[in-house]
Amino acid sequence: MKTLLIQISLIASLVVLLTSCSARGEVRLLRQELTLSLDPERHLVAGKSTLVFGPGSGNSAAFALNGKATVEQVSVNGQESAYRRTAEGLVVELPGKAGSPVTVSIQYRCTFNDPTPERTITTEDPTYGVSGAITADGTYLGSDAGWYPTSITQPEKRGVTVTAPAGTEAITAGRRLFRRTEAGVTTSAWEEEHPVERLSLSAGPYVVQEKIFAGIPLYTYFYPENASLADRYLDASAEYIRFYAEKFGPYLFEKFAVVENFFPTGYGFPSYTLIGGSVIRLPFILTTSLPHEIAHCWWGNGVLVDSRGGNWSEGLATYVADHLMEERKSSRNGRDYRFRILADYASLVGPGDEFPLRQFLGRVDSPSRAIGYGKAAMLFHMVRKRIGDEAFFGALREIAREKRYAAVSWEDFARAFCKRSGSDISPFMAPWLDLAGGPRLALAGVTRNEEGSGGWRVTGKVRKEGAYPLVVTVRIEARGKAYDRTFDLSGDETEFSIKLSAPPSRVLLDPEIDLFRILSQAELPATVNRIKGSRALTLVTGRNCAADTETLRLLLRSLGQGETMIVPEKDASTDSLAGRDLLVCGVPERTELLPVLPPGSAVASSDFTVGGERFGSEGDSLFMVGSRQGEPSRVAGLFLPLSTGAARACVLKITHYGRFGLLVFSKGDNRKKEIVVPDEGKSVVAF
Ligand SMILES: [Zn+2]
Repeated sequence: MKTLLIQISLIASLVVLLTSCSARGEVRLLRQELTLSLDPERHLVAGKSTLVFGPGSGNSAAFALNGKATVEQVSVNGQESAYRRTAEGLVVELPGKAGSPVTVSIQYRCTFNDPTPERTITTEDPTYGVSGAITADGTYLGSDAGWYPTSITQPEKRGVTVTAPAGTEAITAGRRLFRRTEAGVTTSAWEEEHPVERLSLSAGPYVVQEKIFAGIPLYTYFYPENASLADRYLDASAEYIRFYAEKFGPYLFEKFAVVENFFPTGYGFPSYTLIGGSVIRLPFILTTSLPHEIAHCWWGNGVLVDSRGGNWSEGLATYVADHLMEERKSSRNGRDYRFRILADYASLVGPGDEFPLRQFLGRVDSPSRAIGYGKAAMLFHMVRKRIGDEAFFGALREIAREKRYAAVSWEDFARAFCKRSGSDISPFMAPWLDLAGGPRLALAGVTRNEEGSGGWRVTGKVRKEGAYPLVVTVRIEARGKAYDRTFDLSGDETEFSIKLSAPPSRVLLDPEIDLFRILSQAELPATVNRIKGSRALTLVTGRNCAADTETLRLLLRSLGQGETMIVPEKDASTDSLAGRDLLVCGVPERTELLPVLPPGSAVASSDFTVGGERFGSEGDSLFMVGSRQGEPSRVAGLFLPLSTGAARACVLKITHYGRFGLLVFSKGDNRKKEIVVPDEGKSVVAF
C-alpha cells in the first residue's frame, strides 16, 4: 500500500523535475550520502547530507528540509558557504563554474515527535496522522517528513549510515552494507543502486533475522515479542518473490524486508514493507497483505506510477496479489473474491462518493479504496478476459522489463495490451477510466417454453444502464449442467433466445462475476460494510443495551458513522425510523426492529444462539447484520454484548470484519465470522 502522501510528493517531484530540466538542462545528482545519528530520548536526528552534483549545476541549488530543522553548517566543495533558509528548506549558493562537479554538505538537526495512536479507531487513514516520530518505542521517518535535505533531482546513488544507542537497528531502502554494535553504539549502513523516491526510515530495538533466496537477502526486523514469527515471514516472502519473478521477470531491488512498526501501518516501500505489530500477528496477513506488498515491488515501486493520469498501482497489486492468490486456490475462490469487490463497491460507495479511476491517487477512506483498489482490479480482470492470459501477462512482463524505474500511465498499459493481443483495447478501457460509477445489469422477461420437438427454449432480455461496452455471459442450468452463451451488449436492451435439449432450471447473468457492475440492493449480502456505507443510519438503544454511551460512540466512529444519532428505543417513533438503516444495541422491546435472523438463531438479553450454538458468558458479544424487517432494501444491525466489558473488548474490532454479516466475540477474540450471500436479485431467475 503506497500512501496518498507518497503519490502526491511523486507528482510534485515530477512537475518540478520537468520544469527544472527545461529551464537549465539536465543536472545530474551523482550521489547523496547521509550520515545520521538518532537520539530517541530527545526525539532528535542530527545529520549530515553530502550531495555530489555533476557539471552545470548553476549558481544555486534548492533543498527541501523540514521547516523546524536547525541548519548548522553548509559547505560547498569543502568551504563554508552562504545559504538562505526558506519555508520549504534552504537555497545554497554554488560557484557556478561549468565543467566541474560540485559537492554540497549540509549539517542539520531536527526533532520529530508526532503523537502515535495507542488505539486505532478508524482504519482508512493509512498514515494515522504520523509523518515523523523518533521515540524510545521506535522511529519512523516518512518520506514526506522532510527529515533530510532532498534535491528536486533524484540522486543516481544514495547511501545512508545511521548510528543509534546500542541495540537500535535502522533500516531503509537499498542493500545493507553492514550492521554492528561497538562501544554502546549500533551502526546500520544502507546503499541504493537505483533510488526511486524519497526515503523513509525506521529504527527500533529489533531482532534481525535473515535468509538468502536466489541471491536476494530477505530480512525481518521484528520486535522481540514477534521474533518467533520471522521464519514464517521469510519463507513466505521467498515464495512470493519466486512466484512474481516467474510471472513478471526478475526482482528489481537489493533486498526485501518485513519491518515491524510501533503503530499500525501497512506501507510498501521500495524493497521493504512496514507493518504494525498487531497486524503482523494476524495469521491472514501472510497470505493477503504480504503478497500485496511484494507485488508492489514490481507494480508501483519497480515500475512507477505516472499519477497525472491516475494511480493504477493499487488496482494492479490487488489484482495480481489479493485476487490471484484466491484464484490460485480455485476458480470458485476467484469468483467469490470478485463478488466481494462488487459487494464492497455497492455497499460503501454512495452516489456522492463516485469519481473516475483517472482521479484516484491513493485511498483516503472506504469509498476511495473500493474505487481505486476494487474497481481498478476489475478493469484489469475484464482486460484479461478480453485478450486472454497469454497476451495479458505477456504485456505485464514487457512493461516490467522495459519500464523499470520509469513512471507509466494507464495509456502505457493499453498500448502494451494492444501490442500483445493485436487488438486496440483503448476504446474499451476509456469509459472505465473516464466515467464515475459503473453499469447496472439485470435480466428481464425471462421465460422458458417447451418446443414441439422435445427441446426447450429460453428467451429474455439483458438490460443495461450506463455507456460501457460489455460482453456478458448468460448461463442456463439444466439437469445439473451449465450452458454458457456470450452476448455483446451494445444497446440498453439485448434480447436472447437459447435452445436446449433439457428442461432449464435457472438463468444466471455473468455467473463468474467477470464484469464490473453496480449490484442491486437485492443482490447485496447484509454485511458490516452496509452499516459503514449507510447514508441514513440511526442507532437505537434497547433497555438492556450493555454497552455504555462512550463505547457506542467509539463503535460509530470506527464504522465511519461518527455523526450518527443515538436514540433510546422509547424515543424512537416508527415514523422517525421509516426508510432508515438501523443499528440496535441490546434486544429491543419492539422485535420488528431486529434484523431478519438467519435460521437457527435466537437472541435474548442474557444469551444468544447462532447456527445452533448458544453463547451465554458475560464476555460474549454478537454483532449481526440482516435485512430490515418490512424494508428489504434497508439493513438492520444488532449489537448484543452480554456485559459492558464484553462490549469494550470487541468494539474496535468489528470494523475490520467489513465483509461479514455475523460476528461473535468472546472477551474481544473473534469466535465466529460468517457471510450470508443472497442467491436472488435481478441477475438470477429460477424456474
Ligand atoms: Zn497497495
